[in-house]
Amino acid sequence: MIAELICVGTELLMGQILNTNAQYIARSLAPSGIDMYHQVVVGDNPKRLTEAVRTAFERADCVIFSGGLGPTDDDLTKETVAEALGKDLVLYDDEWERIVSYFTSKGRTVAPNNKKQAMFPSDAIILPNPNGTAPGCIMEADGKAAILLPGPPRELIPMFRDYAMPYLLRRSGHRLYSREVRIFGVGESEVAYRLDSLLKQQTNPTIAPYAKTGEVTLRVTARCQTDAEGEALVSPVISAIQKELGACVYDTNGRELAEVCHFALIEAKKTLAVAESCTGGRLADAFINYPGSSAYFIEGDVTYSNDAKMRRLGVRAETLDTFGAVSEECAREMAEGCRKAANADFALATTGYAGPDGGEPDKPVGTVFVALASADETVVKRLNLFGDRDRIRHTAMLNALDLLRRKLCTK
Ligand code: ATP
Ligand code: MG
Repeated sequence: MIAELICVGTELLMGQILNTNAQYIARSLAPSGIDMYHQVVVGDNPKRLTEAVRTAFERADCVIFSGGLGPTDDDLTKETVAEALGKDLVLYDDEWERIVSYFTSKGRTVAPNNKKQAMFPSDAIILPNPNGTAPGCIMEADGKAAILLPGPPRELIPMFRDYAMPYLLRRSGHRLYSREVRIFGVGESEVAYRLDSLLKQQTNPTIAPYAKTGEVTLRVTARCQTDAEGEALVSPVISAIQKELGACVYDTNGRELAEVCHFALIEAKKTLAVAESCTGGRLADAFINYPGSSAYFIEGDVTYSNDAKMRRLGVRAETLDTFGAVSEECAREMAEGCRKAANADFALATTGYAGPDGGEPDKPVGTVFVALASADETVVKRLNLFGDRDRIRHTAMLNALDLLRRKLCTK
């Protein structure tokens, strides 16, 4: 099946906005076996849009449109496409009611020109828009289809993902099956380097990297007829990724690092306490985010000052005087003191310079120590993190979680 994309908007042509919808749609279609040979950008001009529609329908089975579904006069995609396909627009009462209540729920009054957003050909398939007023729609004619989506990405993305893509897959007779491999402890470029040959061979399944702050995610997607066939295609590729990256792969079903720790603690019937300086409660929050964390989570101490580290965790004054609060020794005493005070099986601790100011010549901003105390040992890891304060605090938290994950999940 051949698809074509027409992005409508003078702003796009003038370079005032970046065509991220084209990237999103093209990227989503890539693994599906639906070919896209042309993408067109056209301004808000009925004559040129009509030409683009005609050309697209000559060479494609499905034409996807982005933009121009709004209430104003320059929003003319629906009117133009309907006319090109020889269809009249009629008012859909239930869509109109939905638009009116959308406005009233936001305390706004609906304008008469919003009515055109509830007008579609009588045989259209309506695509709901939970994030805005303009519904999308599909118009079918002569065995071909036009799929009309709103321009704002926060409206287009969910509509494409939840309605347009399943429709396209149904028409093409393909299914997609995917799993997410979550990786911690190696950067994106190293992952790309180590998986080079695997990434190059990819056709079915495809492997697409997604960057997430401090982590790497790979989405492995197969084109298939059934889920069982999809799994049979995807699982050897996931095994090959695991073989190459070893314990850096922490999940193959898209779970978060904290979620993996959460279930591992429940399964092991072990308890946890955390002592946080630079992460300031994020670590505790990462666990308490999951229902059922009361099974293992005892307490979280945010000990930001030296005094609190001594008073609540028993960190020694001598340690702070000699090595400072941002030190391996302090992290160790924080974790061990917290474990003892809470009478927990495990305790995690964080201490570091999150910046933007501060640090020492040999411990610049981004220097963070994370520690894990358990019955048999205490491990401390020194990290050299980069980025702004938020990023450093976030990656410090992830590194603390990863210490626990490796302890619980790898032998
Ligand atoms: P609205 O009801 O907001 O007018 P619309 O469906 O009529 O929606 P447009 O008027 O074409 O859409 O675009 C509205 C906004 O959506 C643009 O100002 C822009 O911010 C964003 N947008 C439109 N097209 C794209 C695109 N191809 N890529 C990224 N953003 C886009
Ligand atoms: Mg508009």
